[in-house]
Amino acid sequence: MNIVIMGLPGAGKGTQAAEIIKKYPIPHISTGDMFRLAIKNETPLGNEAKSYMDRGELVPDEVTVGIVKERLSESDAKDGFLLDGFPRTVQQAEALNEIMDELGSKIESTIYVDVPEEELMNRLTGRRICEVCGTAYHLVFNPPKQEGICDLDGGKLYQREDDNPETVQNRLEVNIKQTQPLLDFYESQGVLSRVNGSQDIDEVFDDINKVLEKL
Ligand SMILES: [Zn+2]
Repeated sequence: MNIVIMGLPGAGKGTQAAEIIKKYPIPHISTGDMFRLAIKNETPLGNEAKSYMDRGELVPDEVTVGIVKERLSESDAKDGFLLDGFPRTVQQAEALNEIMDELGSKIESTIYVDVPEEELMNRLTGRRICEVCGTAYHLVFNPPKQEGICDLDGGKLYQREDDNPETVQNRLEVNIKQTQPLLDFYESQGVLSRVNGSQDIDEVFDDINKVLEKL
């Protein structure tokens, strides 16, 4: 079961990834974790990635792809994996196909947690954080008992710079531009499953599960 999960910021990709690995015995392989591990273990590629990051530069594709390849070659990924945060570009998707070829396997399903942009705006701009303990609330989904005040310690809630409408809009536009060609690519490969991410968490997972049961 070799799966890729994709979704725009706020679509609930992380939540669904957690549900998938609860049900299926496959490792959840996120780009962030992969980089952290390679850097911590000081693998040659990890060291190389770190040198770019330390200089504040983007890690080149060949290094990223190399780290992905190392990770997917580990024994725990032999019978399947859930890849999260990679690929981000069609070029990376093609590189991933090559890696899978070399491993004598293939990507079986790409799950896209699909949520309309307007709903993502609502989700992402509603977040409020306690300035004392850092607990996150949401004006709609998880409001504090008293407006603007943390339930736990009475601290004041604030909106992170990242969550203001203009910043969120920009972030979404950039992500949509990046994601669309990737969706087209996987659609052309016949492995794209769009799942309606506007439903309740359980319903989204039911739909994902229907896809996975067929693999
Ligand atoms: Zn608090």
